[in-house]
Amino acid sequence: MICQLWMAISTHDREENFTMQDYIKIEDLNIPVILQRHKRKTLAIAITQDGKLLIKSPLRMREKEIILFIEQKKSWIYSKTKQVLKENKNKVYMSEEEIKELKKQAREILTKRTDYYKEILNVDYEKIRIGNQKTIWGSCSSKRTISYNCHLVLMPEQIIDYVVVHELCHLVEMNHSPAFWEKVSEILPDYQSRRKWLKENGNSYL
Ligand SMILES: [Zn+2]
Repeated sequence: MICQLWMAISTHDREENFTMQDYIKIEDLNIPVILQRHKRKTLAIAITQDGKLLIKSPLRMREKEIILFIEQKKSWIYSKTKQVLKENKNKVYMSEEEIKELKKQAREILTKRTDYYKEILNVDYEKIRIGNQKTIWGSCSSKRTISYNCHLVLMPEQIIDYVVVHELCHLVEMNHSPAFWEKVSEILPDYQSRRKWLKENGNSYL
């Protein structure tokens, strides 16, 4: 591992402000490395969202120092990369065309589920909007528009139903008060485990 990184860094050592890419091998992982030189005083490392090791080093820091630092942080780099890769495992990179198709499917499935549960809850919505939001799964406006994230349809059915019931319950309780959760649990007594699942796994679908 040392040797590989050493070569990668020393090749570019004379240049300032460069960005390079190479790999380091730690156990079963081959982690791409991006080294950036910046006007900064300390060395920092991070694992990027797509599982690369990003090293931000001061402009003139010697390669030996960088390698020593990486060596010391090896187990952190390893476990952090593993974690990122695990989070990425359900990620599907979709083209615009595929997102369009996903939205179509989402509209069909989510409308069906919403119409099913609205009867049980005895509520009615104005319209359903299907989006491709980066951070939310569903929302409900005071104009009774329910918005859903199209990626929901890639998840297990119980999770889809949880989001549907959650948003429909907002038509009764426009907040997250105890009364709201009471309503949710009337329909889905096990909603807490579904909610937990969504918290833990949801982002890996975006
Ligand atoms: Zn809510």
